Amino acid sequence: MNRVALQPDDTGSQYHDFTLDVRLRRPQIRLGRALSTPSFLIDIDGVLYGGSAPVAKGPGVLTYLRGRGFPFLLVTNTSRMSASDIQEKLAGLGYQVDADEILPVSLAAVEYLTQKFDAARCFLIGDDSLARLLEEHGHTVSRKEESADAVVIGQSLWADFGEIDIARRLALQGAEVIALHRDAIWPDGDVTRIGLGPIVAAIESVIDDAVTVIGKPQRAFFDAALSRAGFARADTIMIGDSIASDIDGAINADLRSLLVRTGNSATESVPKGCDGALDSIADLPHWCDGEFPD
Ligand SMILES: [Mg+2]
Repeated sequence: MNRVALQPDDTGSQYHDFTLDVRLRRPQIRLGRALSTPSFLIDIDGVLYGGSAPVAKGPGVLTYLRGRGFPFLLVTNTSRMSASDIQEKLAGLGYQVDADEILPVSLAAVEYLTQKFDAARCFLIGDDSLARLLEEHGHTVSRKEESADAVVIGQSLWADFGEIDIARRLALQGAEVIALHRDAIWPDGDVTRIGLGPIVAAIESVIDDAVTVIGKPQRAFFDAALSRAGFARADTIMIGDSIASDIDGAINADLRSLLVRTGNSATESVPKGCDGALDSIADLPHWCDGEFPD
């Protein structure tokens, strides 16, 4: 093992003065063609942390990217927290990021509703943080069976079939059913919980129209992330732990991608079209040093 000192950055982060273990081997992953300066879309859950613990040496990776001048945007299907909630959680885990460096699917959903309805009357299946976010952006939220423009489905800890029953009737009356994502599962520390996928499937089985899905792996979500961050598609690498959401979505959006083995797809093989796998985000500096030497 070599120990290589990373350059301090100018963010004032307490993490900028540290050393990183670097293995004496060339990275085995090679991009098909050279990128000039890479930019990164980075998933959060299962990549930067799992449950309530940060991935080992994760915080230093963002410091490294800043030091190299490699821009990044954190993109997440987490629907239970706003960007500032996520920022606070990340700060508690040692990650120093600004709220505008985070694009949560909840914000993308709110913007979709604004674009489509201006002020939407929403029947919400999801928790109170999503209700607050919708209301902050001028939409109204109801938990009761009353006329609605949209049925919005976000994560709540326990799904309720009574809500699905109401959602079906509202959809048949013309409300658009909008799911923040349809991930089948999500890692919550040592527990794997069901995601929105089973709830979306239940609703889909009893309505006529398709459900509008906002988050990864939808190409529109990656497009929104690129446009928000000002990244060029050809120079952008998506890093995620879920093959279904992050990697397949990135491939479909014509982005480069790296799978990390710290979350949803820890043991599955690397799909065709993905640029490779890292044991953890902590290996990213070493990988970048090989791919993008000074
Ligand atoms: Mg994830």
